[in-house]
Amino acid sequence: MQARIAAAARLARRAPADICLIAVSKTHDAPAIAPLIAGGQRHFGENRVQEAEGKWPALRAQTPGIMLHMIGPLQSNKAEDAVALFDCIHSLDRMSLITALARAMDKAGGGAGRRVPCFLQVNIGDEPQKSGCALAEVTALIAAARLADIPLAGLMGIPPAGIEPAPFFALLDKVAGDHGLDGRSMGMSGDFETAIMLGATHVRVGSALFGARLVD
Ligand SMILES: *Cc1c(COP(=O)(O)O)cnc(C)c1O
Repeated sequence: MQARIAAAARLARRAPADICLIAVSKTHDAPAIAPLIAGGQRHFGENRVQEAEGKWPALRAQTPGIMLHMIGPLQSNKAEDAVALFDCIHSLDRMSLITALARAMDKAGGGAGRRVPCFLQVNIGDEPQKSGCALAEVTALIAAARLADIPLAGLMGIPPAGIEPAPFFALLDKVAGDHGLDGRSMGMSGDFETAIMLGATHVRVGSALFGARLVD
C-alpha cells in the first residue's frame, strides 16, 4: 500500500511523506488490526464512536503514537465522546455540530480543553442521501468553525459511486485552495491513486488493506 501511494505521489511530483495513509479499521477486530500496527501503521479510521471506544483503548495502551480518525457521520450527542477518543474528525458538516464540538473541546480534559483538528466534509457530488455540507455552505461553515476555535485541517469529500471520481477530487482541491486550507481528505480503496494525483493529503483506505468486509 505504501509503495502504491509512493508511486502515485511520484507521478504527481509530490513527496510520498506528504500523504497520510489512514487505515480504515471499521468492522475489524483487534486481532485483524494488530498486524498492521506491528507493520508500522499508526493512523487508523473508524466510523462509529461506540465501536472505536470498544477496541482502541486497549490497542493504544500497547503502542504509543496511534492516531485515531473519526471518518463517519457524527451525532451531536456523541461530540464529547468523539473529542475524548479521536485525534482528528473528518465529518464536520453542519452548524449544530460545530457548536457541539466546540463545547466538547472546551470541556475536555476536565476543563483544560482539547482542540481536535477537523476536516469540513463537503457533499461534492451534491447527492441528497450523502452527508457533507453543500458547496454553498462551505464559506459560512469555515468561518463559524474558526470563530469557535475549532482547528480546521482541510476539506473531506466522497465522490459519487459509479462515475469517474477525478472531477470531484479536483473540485474539492480547488475549494480547499480557495479557502486557504492545506488538507484534502479524499480517496478510498478504489480511487486513492487518482485522489493523490489531484492533491489528497489523507487517503482513507479500508478494504484494500483488510480484505473484504463482512458488514457495512
Ligand atoms: C469505509 C470508509 C472508507 C474506506 O472505504 P474502502 O472502500 O473500504 O477503502 C473511507 N472513507 C469513509 C468515510 C468510509 O466510511
